[in-house]
Amino acid sequence: MIRAEAGDLLDWYDVHAREMPWRVGPSARRDGIRPDPYRVWLSEVMLQQTTVAAVRDYFHRFTARWPTVADLAAAADEDVMGEWAGLGYYARARNLLKCARAVVADHGGVFPATREGLLSLPGIGPYTASAISAIAYDLPETVVDGNVERVMARLHDLHVPLPTAKPELTEMAARLTPDARPGDYAQAVMDLGATICTPKSPACGICPWRDPCVARSNGTAPELPKKLPKKPKPIRLGIAYVGRRADGAFLLQRRPDKGLLGGMLGWPGSDWAETVPQDTPPVAAQWRDAGAEARHTFTHFHLRLAIRVADLPMGAEPDTGEFLGPDRFRPSDLPTVMRKAFDLARASFKDGF
Ligand code: SF4
Repeated sequence: MIRAEAGDLLDWYDVHAREMPWRVGPSARRDGIRPDPYRVWLSEVMLQQTTVAAVRDYFHRFTARWPTVADLAAAADEDVMGEWAGLGYYARARNLLKCARAVVADHGGVFPATREGLLSLPGIGPYTASAISAIAYDLPETVVDGNVERVMARLHDLHVPLPTAKPELTEMAARLTPDARPGDYAQAVMDLGATICTPKSPACGICPWRDPCVARSNGTAPELPKKLPKKPKPIRLGIAYVGRRADGAFLLQRRPDKGLLGGMLGWPGSDWAETVPQDTPPVAAQWRDAGAEARHTFTHFHLRLAIRVADLPMGAEPDTGEFLGPDRFRPSDLPTVMRKAFDLARASFKDGF
């Protein structure tokens, strides 16, 4: 029964596998082409908390600029953080660099070919280790992301809510994982969840698992997986100061490595708290309110960032941050919330720049 299910899914995958820039498709695999563990690792780190559509361009840019793990290991931190800007969850970018450097320093530039070896690397947790093991090295590891959880819950008509159901869903997924073609199988289940067994309207009529699927026959598929209600996120308030000098340089500040947006470029500003922040600009000037807030949602809170702007004199000596001219500052290097603040601040400068 289990083997039949895996076989049916692999048959479906052979025809319907999604094309992705990091993927070696089923026919290329049959021709003996192996995936590059560097590209698999990079894509898996980028895909955490992010969609395939959002990742594609970043993946192309990273692999064009740093084609191998050794190239990435030798990159400057700020270049990598700049290329990562906009993808979010910036600890991933810092760990990406640490991991690339560890692969080069400790493993001769080759990713370990075992799950345990992969787990010893910075930033590689159980999920990523399983994904690289299965996809890059064709080891029979079980890979469980949100898509796989949804498919398993429906296939078995499991009504225990997430996250409580996670261990049970993982066990169900493990029982189905075949020894043959485990890498293709892992990607096939994810593709099934992303294209057929979608959250709101699963296309059961064309699903390779429509016969064994219990939720389909019980008519419960669209309501699964159940989820425990989430706590509402608190709102935090802050102020960002967008200062521009007469020569066009902006006053920017690299955030500390630890903490939210760690290592990223940003605007000097207040702490972000649930109380109204104190207005303490980084340098004395005629600061004016931009008249709009940058709003952004992080994992644990919503942020409302007031924006102050000022034209700064050439001799301005700020308490924090440094002036970066157009040769050293690209707005695309900013993380999303700082980019939103920049875009809103623009209209408040007379020359619009
Ligand atoms: S039959 Fe429907 S609910 Fe079941 S796995 Fe396929 S798409 Fe999902």
